[in-house]
Amino acid sequence: MNVHDSEKMLGILHGQGYARAESPEGADLIIFNTCAIREKAEQKFYSQLGRTKMLKRRRNEVKIAVAGCVAQETKERLFGRAPYVDFIVGPQNIHLIAETIGGERRTALLDDNRELASTEVAARRGSEIKAWVSIMFGCNNFCSYCIVPLTRGREVSRPSSAIIAEIRSLSEKGYKEVTLLGQNVNSYCSDITFPQLLRRIDALGIERIRFVTSHPRDLSDELIRAVAELPHVCEHIHLPIQSGSREILSRMNRGYTYEEYMVKIEKIRSEVPHVSITADVIAGFPGETSRDHEETLRALRAIGYDGIFAFKYSPRKGTKAAEMDDRISDEEKSLRLGEILKLQEEITLRKNRALEGTVQEILVEGPSDTDGTLLMGRTRTNKIVTVAGDGYVQGSFVQVFIEQARHHSLSGKPLPC
Ligand code: SAH
Ligand code: SF4
Repeated sequence: MNVHDSEKMLGILHGQGYARAESPEGADLIIFNTCAIREKAEQKFYSQLGRTKMLKRRRNEVKIAVAGCVAQETKERLFGRAPYVDFIVGPQNIHLIAETIGGERRTALLDDNRELASTEVAARRGSEIKAWVSIMFGCNNFCSYCIVPLTRGREVSRPSSAIIAEIRSLSEKGYKEVTLLGQNVNSYCSDITFPQLLRRIDALGIERIRFVTSHPRDLSDELIRAVAELPHVCEHIHLPIQSGSREILSRMNRGYTYEEYMVKIEKIRSEVPHVSITADVIAGFPGETSRDHEETLRALRAIGYDGIFAFKYSPRKGTKAAEMDDRISDEEKSLRLGEILKLQEEITLRKNRALEGTVQEILVEGPSDTDGTLLMGRTRTNKIVTVAGDGYVQGSFVQVFIEQARHHSLSGKPLPC
């Protein structure tokens, strides 16, 4: 979501005649687009911000702006903490960035923006093949650990006509894939529902449609049916479980039990053949006993995700969980996170091995990060595949015979067209 917000800011600035600088040293304007989801992200930002102080000392005309969730969370206090910051722009106000940075005075744009969903911003995208498309903003869920509702505000959905116009234009420009973005895409609610929106987008003909993130509580049968039936909607669902323990899920205010979650997983698997399912998991939530932790491990074994993102619980000021006193030590959180990741690595490898000997369609994205002589693409189920690169261009679809599975990727041989 932040990457796409940066693309939007780049789009606005480009329209104002700005061009991207090669390095902070050569820039007249430096924008930090920050994330506040965990303390580590915030710390990284502050250490980077500290370095720009020197740049400002050398060239006083350099302007420094802080955008994103840390900006929204810290508000004007940030001017006190870092007096060399010129502008503060919260995530609901990035459309105003051009006016802000054009001014001379220190400004903070932090108001709730109820017009967010009807404010259109032309993004300058990093890829010519895959595009992020915002469909809704904010979150009403108030999971007890999470800062997002406090920084991104209440849920608002973009009108379907604006989303469809954006995707139609992307398709005309040759984009092959869109990922619909929202903190909780399946609570999309405008003139139509999320499954109806998927059906309309599918009819546009763009080759691949993905969406993140779905909340388990709001995952309806109608949505599962849409994923099963629509030819362009990819067979991948990211469905964060967070914990396998009933007690912890309740303290997290997630709105489902492990059993209810499992019913959805079974339903997805029975209706969408070869679907891949991924999730987020939090280790060491306040009050998590070793038994609760074991229940999360048991859930991972029972569900067999294709992959997970797992994090140590990080207390966020202003959230309910930050007030809970039965904190888990950092050492214990690290141990639990390590166990979660180790178990999942084995499961992911097993899942990937099951694909050896199969043929998978990949969308070629470009040279592989790890070996520039190879090309990298993704399957419809979002698995990374590397292939020998001769003769295939970015944005093409290639059928690949999978030869070898690794922990985080697959490799194979392209089949002749
Ligand atoms: N809206 C999405 C995800 C939002 S944040 C959802 O509900 O699934 C992405 C992930 O960050 C969350 O799924 C959660 O696993 C993690 N996360 C959020 N707040 C956190 C915190 N305080 N500490 C650790 N992980 C956190
Ligand atoms: Fe945060 Fe929960 Fe909203 Fe996701 S659903 S953004 S975890 S409050």
